[in-house]
Amino acid sequence: MAKKTTRKGQSKAKTKKSAKRAAKSQATKKAPTKKATAGAAARGPKKFVYFFGNGKADGNRTMKDVLGGKGSGLAEMTNAGFPVPPGFTISTAACTLYYEHGRKLPPQIDKEIEQNLHKLEKVAGATLGSADAPLLVSVRSGAKFSMPGMMDTILNLGLNDATVESLKNRTGNGRFAFDSYRRFMQMYGNVVLEIPKEEFEKEFDAVKRARGAKTDTDLDEAALREVVGRYKRVITARTRREFPQDPFEQLRGARDAVFRSWNNERAIKYRRLYDIPDDIGTAVNVQMMVFGNMGDRSATGVGFTRNPATGAREFFGEFLTNAQGEDVVAGIRTPRPITELERVMPKAYRELRDITSRLERHYKDVQDFEFTIQDEKLYMLQTRSGKRTGYAAVVIATDLVEEGLLKPKEAVLLVEPISLSQLLAPMFDPNEWKKVAVATKGLPASPGAASGQVVFTSETAIEWKNQGLKVLLVRKETVPDDIHGMEVAQGVLTATGGMTSHAAVVGRQMGRPSIVGAGQLQIDEKNKCFTVSGQTVREGDYVSFDGLTGEVKIGKVATTPSEILQVVTGKMRPEQSDIYRRFNQLLTWADEVRTLGIRANADQPDQSELAYAFGARGIGLCRTEHMFFGAGRIEKMQRMILADNEKDRRAALNELLPLQRGDFHGVLKAMHGCPVTIRTIDPPLHEFVPKREDLMVEIARLEATGGDANLLEERRRLLHRVEQLHEFNPMLGHRGVRLGITYPEITEMQARAIFEAACQLNREGLAVMPEVMIPLVGLVEELKDQKEIVVRVAEDVMKEQGVQIKYLVGTMIEVPRGALTADQVATEAEFFSFGTNDLTQMTFGFSRDDSGKFLRIYQDRKILDFDPFASIDTVGVGQLVEMGCKRGRATKPDLKLGVCGEHGGDPASIHFFHKVGLNYVSCSPYRVPVARLAAAQAALSVKVGD
Ligand code: PEP
Ligand code: MG
Repeated sequence: MAKKTTRKGQSKAKTKKSAKRAAKSQATKKAPTKKATAGAAARGPKKFVYFFGNGKADGNRTMKDVLGGKGSGLAEMTNAGFPVPPGFTISTAACTLYYEHGRKLPPQIDKEIEQNLHKLEKVAGATLGSADAPLLVSVRSGAKFSMPGMMDTILNLGLNDATVESLKNRTGNGRFAFDSYRRFMQMYGNVVLEIPKEEFEKEFDAVKRARGAKTDTDLDEAALREVVGRYKRVITARTRREFPQDPFEQLRGARDAVFRSWNNERAIKYRRLYDIPDDIGTAVNVQMMVFGNMGDRSATGVGFTRNPATGAREFFGEFLTNAQGEDVVAGIRTPRPITELERVMPKAYRELRDITSRLERHYKDVQDFEFTIQDEKLYMLQTRSGKRTGYAAVVIATDLVEEGLLKPKEAVLLVEPISLSQLLAPMFDPNEWKKVAVATKGLPASPGAASGQVVFTSETAIEWKNQGLKVLLVRKETVPDDIHGMEVAQGVLTATGGMTSHAAVVGRQMGRPSIVGAGQLQIDEKNKCFTVSGQTVREGDYVSFDGLTGEVKIGKVATTPSEILQVVTGKMRPEQSDIYRRFNQLLTWADEVRTLGIRANADQPDQSELAYAFGARGIGLCRTEHMFFGAGRIEKMQRMILADNEKDRRAALNELLPLQRGDFHGVLKAMHGCPVTIRTIDPPLHEFVPKREDLMVEIARLEATGGDANLLEERRRLLHRVEQLHEFNPMLGHRGVRLGITYPEITEMQARAIFEAACQLNREGLAVMPEVMIPLVGLVEELKDQKEIVVRVAEDVMKEQGVQIKYLVGTMIEVPRGALTADQVATEAEFFSFGTNDLTQMTFGFSRDDSGKFLRIYQDRKILDFDPFASIDTVGVGQLVEMGCKRGRATKPDLKLGVCGEHGGDPASIHFFHKVGLNYVSCSPYRVPVARLAAAQAALSVKVGD
């Protein structure tokens, strides 16, 4: 796949995907090709090592790309005058070069490291390898995106048989000196020399056992000397070399090992999981050691300036006395709550509170920090923006404004739009959720917690729901017919399908938690069971899943409904919910800055009302075909399809007319005069009739049992029609505008239903703004044909009813030819709405419903690094959108432009749509808050130009 478009307009709060793609374009800018980068290094003047110390740093907070998160934080804290041990950062570009030079650093960088090491020795008043005043350093990884615990770290580097004695003499603490030495050997042995940890642990435990020591700290100097001796023997036995005594060799070894750890299995897995690009590399931070293990007046810890789960304004974290950093995270000893530090070391605690609150004010965001206290003196080792839940993000952003730290515009940039979905979904009790093992994972199509009894058909779902049961619909795939089953289910789980498969689209639209493409599910619909991870789940058994992560578990887990949804649906008063107040406040600020309009994709009055309550000001896509599936409707639809002449077809359509009119009345009314885009019928007709195989089985059964002759005859006719409707490639077949052209009476009926509903509302004194949209247009003549029908019917109806209403007739741009000839199409269209689902399908030639099978592999193999059905392919499909906009507006400068494909609710895509000048985006009702926020961020970042 070609190079990614740079997303210049990204805001601070990025979705994982957009972050990945933005970072990737950054990375490709910095190190575009092997040759180019090597050439850049050879040219020389580029800086690869950045010093920090004595209140001054070469880098700063804006240099995360170069210095990584940790390096840029250390530089920034140094510049701000905070107590940071001095050191230097080897840049991420050096990591890229390391790999490009066959896992070796060019000599020029070695030289730069040496110069900076001398500088560090001067500032520290200590020299690496000196027996009098040995400098000891830590060597830590630090990529642009935090990857906690995934890469390697080495502490106490510089210790050898001579310097350890010097450390003992200088500190008067032999236990500490040898504890530091054994830790260093253990880390070095494991990380650099790649000896399994257990080999060291075995020796350590043996000494502990022999001396009857309960904890690590019970070991005295003599014991630790013995540990060091044993470690040396492990290393010699394993590597056939002595443990390196030369600190420069140690430093080179550690540095390279950190670079190597960028590509360890853990790190790669983590990057896959969190969409972090592989080619941005890690920086290496070499920093003077400070010791939290110097005794009881020393400590080490980590914390957050606010609670990252709830956003509460509380100092949050843990610490350990007489310990080094890894002891806190490794769980060897149980750390103590940070508030206890106040009692243990009040002065250091007060200083830590003071510094971290200053850091929070400085960065204007919650900080996640690491510190060490050496003999009661506090040192800061890291600060970065703290990761938080969606809930906490909203609480923190609104609090920071209330506290005067942020302006509303800045707060809008602080919340990742997609994280708002978490606030709308029912939640699992986190403690209960943890207790059950993951059975499998699928694509997280629609967020939320779902727990219920498994059913395999929509009919059973409805039946069981009517009996008061909570059901979870499990299907190989879903078809439009399942809409009612989906409506009553707690969640929908399918074995096939991608992010825009039917289950995913409808699931999101309904706000129904959904997981699709869970390929490990072996579903046996006939025997009503499925197997996964060696377990068999039968109809009625409980399954639970989290639509946000894609995790599926077998068993029942309790959920609680979202408070915000309760307020929006009128079940709770706004003033009863603090989180609703904040959510609403944040989105009001977002509305003040965004220029994109937000509409919803909805085809039922209740969905439209909900969308309006969530802040949608218009419907961007009302899929009329969904209205044909309700009880008492599908039969009429089938009668229309079965008709073999226009007269019978019209008779059936006449029965559908009042039903459609009723629906349109509801949807138009729910939008309070905002525009409502109603699309004429789109799917191939076979979707409205039973499956050929099912009919054949039914007919065979009726024949064998001598069943009702009339029914048999009717089923045979239906089968005949189903066979006629069969298409080899229905997605490219008789659908969209092609249906309206071959059966103009369908378009007529739909137009009549729309305008009769609109006129009726007008007479009721309510404002309406219908927009009739023709799908799948690739030729202007197609649109012209259908527009004539719509306009004729509209005029007729308005005349009949003595009412005049404003309306528009436009088209979807979802066939590449439509985009290419947008200048012609615009001569007939009064608006365009980009149908990016079909446009993606047809531009890539990837089937929307089948691509799930191979897109995963594409992503794993880096052939494509995102799902183009979830996030717009700016380079290819986006080019067509941009071209469509330009060419359309060249014909009609005020042409209204929108998007109604699934991308309309994707934050990264919204940035793109803002940039190309669309008037609005349209998405499922539950995505409306996400889109409001993303649109505001797009407007802000484009203005700010970050
Ligand atoms: C589209 O193709 O983007 C679209 C919105 O239409 P549908 O998903 O109904 O094909
Ligand atoms: Mg479409």
